[in-house]
Amino acid sequence: MLEKLLQRAKDNPSLLSSPLTTIATYPTNGSSSVSARDMQNSSNVLDNKLANESPTTLCGESFNDTRLYIQDRPRQEWANLSTIYFVTPTYPRREQVPELTRLAYTLLHVPRLHWIVANDHNACNPYLDTLLNRFGIPYTHLASPMPQRFHKAESKPRGVANRRAAMQWLRQHNITTGVLYFGDDDNTYDLKLFSEIRDTKHVSMFPVGLIANYGISGPVVCKGKVIGFLDSWVAGRRWPVDMAGFAVSLSYMAEHPNASMPYKPGYEEDYFLRSIGLTLDMIEPKGSNCTEILVWHTQTKNHERTMVKLNHEYLDDRSNLGALFKALSDMGVSGASDSEGQKAIISKNGKSKPLGYFLS
Ligand code: UDP
Ligand code: MN
Repeated sequence: MLEKLLQRAKDNPSLLSSPLTTIATYPTNGSSSVSARDMQNSSNVLDNKLANESPTTLCGESFNDTRLYIQDRPRQEWANLSTIYFVTPTYPRREQVPELTRLAYTLLHVPRLHWIVANDHNACNPYLDTLLNRFGIPYTHLASPMPQRFHKAESKPRGVANRRAAMQWLRQHNITTGVLYFGDDDNTYDLKLFSEIRDTKHVSMFPVGLIANYGISGPVVCKGKVIGFLDSWVAGRRWPVDMAGFAVSLSYMAEHPNASMPYKPGYEEDYFLRSIGLTLDMIEPKGSNCTEILVWHTQTKNHERTMVKLNHEYLDDRSNLGALFKALSDMGVSGASDSEGQKAIISKNGKSKPLGYFLS
């Protein structure tokens, strides 16, 4: 961890002048590390508006863009673009790794992007960190658990602790240029979205497909100006938009130090946009005056994690099964058990055989 922090400082010297972070950083392997208390003692004041009751942990980070070509052009050709900070809340479940993989392969096509992946979990997941590192996209991996008090709530503030942690990270690193976008791990993004939001002056908005009853949520635009909103759930919201339906300039956000996102299910977008002093005439409609759908609120069916009954004596290096089930377990997809779950069937020529038949 210490090595990573030093590397980070080397890659990005400006970080040395700003307090590193008040994000608590824990050693992952018991070796020397910057302790959480050292971090708390740094001069930065914890931002109460964004702080979580459960501390955020920095799990891994890279400011290096190791992609040689992006959209068939050398990376250097994109160097003058502003950076998009793409904030992805995510949480452990069977579909987590597949969702993040799919999203990563979209983001790999996007130049000048820093991916903040905030995991709703109380510890760092080394598997996720390795995964993120491998893509070569600059990223920050945070562990930002939902506060305990919401665990039993009927409707949970999904992804809020994560987004708050990401905003806190941006503030602690004094990032006041570029564009902030909240991109959930299960949505579908058209690459045009990124070029549309990149020059956001204050707040840009655009329709999101597959939202609620109308299959759409987004601004109504007249003569290039936003005049209202089409969304089947108003519920008193001044800004009845989806989380994926807007982007904010970080220089504008810096003028609003009270920017925050409440733990209030259904009202996260509305209160966030109120907290940055949004007015109707300020909104920049994107996607050909909000006629195009460049982002979709796709939802993935969640399946329970399963166990496969497969005796541990077969999970050695005689076959791929040991490594395969180790990976599945690391990814949170399924696990092997001596006693539980559906029996593992291995077949050959259309006939199932006991494992001893293959591995003796
Ligand atoms: N999420 C989370 N913790 C949870 C549930 C969801 O961090 O307990 C994340 C999830 O990965 C997604 C975002 O919060 O990026 C919104 O959640 P979800 O997609 O389940 O909500 P929906 O899109 O159905 O409103
Ligand atoms: Mn979703």
